[in-house]
Amino acid sequence: MRILILSDIHANLEALEACLEAAPSYDRVVNLGDVVGYGASPNEVIEQSRKLGGPIVRGNHDKACSGVTSIDGFNPVAGMAVLWTRTMLARENLHWLHELPQGPLTLEDVPNVQFVHGSPLDEDEYLINLVEALEPLEETEIPLTFFGHTHIQGGFLLNGEDAAVLRPVYKAPKSKEEFELKLKKEPKYLINPGSVGQPRDNDWRAAFAVYDNDARIVTYCRVPYDVEAAQERIIQAELPERLAARLAHGR
Ligand code: ZN
Repeated sequence: MRILILSDIHANLEALEACLEAAPSYDRVVNLGDVVGYGASPNEVIEQSRKLGGPIVRGNHDKACSGVTSIDGFNPVAGMAVLWTRTMLARENLHWLHELPQGPLTLEDVPNVQFVHGSPLDEDEYLINLVEALEPLEETEIPLTFFGHTHIQGGFLLNGEDAAVLRPVYKAPKSKEEFELKLKKEPKYLINPGSVGQPRDNDWRAAFAVYDNDARIVTYCRVPYDVEAAQERIIQAELPERLAARLAHGR
């Protein structure tokens, strides 16, 4: 089984479409959350995500945009985007967002793998560096976790006493690229497919991953997309300009 793993689309329709067009073949889709927030196409991205199917884990922006939580703890720019998204969402989409399940989620036919937004221990926790990743790596019984939230493609592994950061290596920053990671038997892994709609790892290209459960290979992917069109929509929507500017830099 090949699983297309999407995370942190953040209402960026242009980035999502580019990922779907570029994705190698897959049997099903798992979405790690933050479907909306920041970007200017929340309804379109929700409708596309619903069509792709699930499971879909809820993210912190999904919760705030649908009123599950307040905007407390959001920085002013993110909070403005949440309030804008709330006013734009069609009733049905708002309801759908409100009902998204909390991670970790699992798939019946894919054992020993779990899917979360932040951390297996806390859905809202950021696992940015190895120190932060150690506790969930040690605590979780499940050997392979896919997570999002940080918008940084890569992940972490723990093998006995040894721990390491995983980062795909790319050579052509303006083209579509893939990087394969063959999973070994012994380590526990936390794997981040990166953010479709607002990368923050200094690479502006949309990010996602495909996991081949039989071959035990994670294929990280980066695809160029029409950043200017996504920026233009943000400007037209009168969302904070910073949300448009950052897309060009991937941070
Ligand atoms: Zn996010």
